Amino acid sequence: MSCAVEITDLTKSYGTTVALEHVSLSVGKGEMFGLIGPDGAGKSTMYKILATLLTPDSGSATVCGLDTVRHFRDIRTRIGYMPEKFSLYQDLTVEENLKFFASLFGVSIKENYDLIAPIFGQLKRFPNRRAGALSGGMKQKLALSCALIHRPEILLLDEPTTGVDAVSRSEFWDMLATLREKEITILVSTSYMDEATRCERIAMINEGRILDIDTPARLIAGIGENLYNAVSADMFTLLKHLRELPEVSDCYTFGATLHVVGAPDFDPARATDKLREQGLNDVKIYPAQGDIEDLFIKLTRDDK
Ligand code: ADP
Repeated sequence: MSCAVEITDLTKSYGTTVALEHVSLSVGKGEMFGLIGPDGAGKSTMYKILATLLTPDSGSATVCGLDTVRHFRDIRTRIGYMPEKFSLYQDLTVEENLKFFASLFGVSIKENYDLIAPIFGQLKRFPNRRAGALSGGMKQKLALSCALIHRPEILLLDEPTTGVDAVSRSEFWDMLATLREKEITILVSTSYMDEATRCERIAMINEGRILDIDTPARLIAGIGENLYNAVSADMFTLLKHLRELPEVSDCYTFGATLHVVGAPDFDPARATDKLREQGLNDVKIYPAQGDIEDLFIKLTRDDK
């Protein structure tokens, strides 16, 4: 598999804040690759370097085989970059924004319309609406259309679903899946852990460091922890007491339950007895299926 993006030992700081620390990863041509991590993990910094808007302190990055520092002009014509913040002209209409981005790259809307048709088609009902007056989901569709109008080889999407409602989020991932069929490489970042499974491979990133890279299924399968759900009417006291048990390695809130990471000697029945002695009479502890969020918690714990 040849690489669309190759990042080697990349480091970038802002003053004393280290945003990226010895990051290496590669994204294959035509791959849908996810960068998964919380706010402040370094995702936008990596995107800005790949989009040639920032230079690294050390290490290197190539996009389509071109170095981001030496060949920044060439790269800019070959990527479609959707920054985290809404980047379109709020005072221009839907149609004017699209025309503007097409003209920047010297292409006509007509020649590449097939690529954006499933996305832009949903905006056609209001071509004269100003971009600033669109809903979050519609803004996102327009931004994606504008990022695609010059038929880029690589799409760099920085947290495209942040702040968008759940239905639009899901629709957005469906649209990305159709672009995959057009063999466009997609590097997409998100802080929503549940979106990780929509990618072919993911890199988990935290505090500027890559924690692991693989397919979501292999990463989840490799969690390898003694994982349980725990519930009680008094979840706060339950969390406190579970964390005090020596045979509990970690315990954290997980949706409506707690997830308990047991040490090798953890026995749910014995733990339930101990909690009863502490006055918690309704505790239920049963095996849990780990997911990406558990993996992230485990990786950050191991990293520390
Ligand atoms: P993410 O996109 O994952 O939220 P960022 O790349 O935006 O992460 O930020 C990584 C770290 O760098 C954070 O600690 C952030 O506060 C810091 N940072 C980002 N941009 C700047 C900047 N222009 N000046 C100073 N610090 C910054």
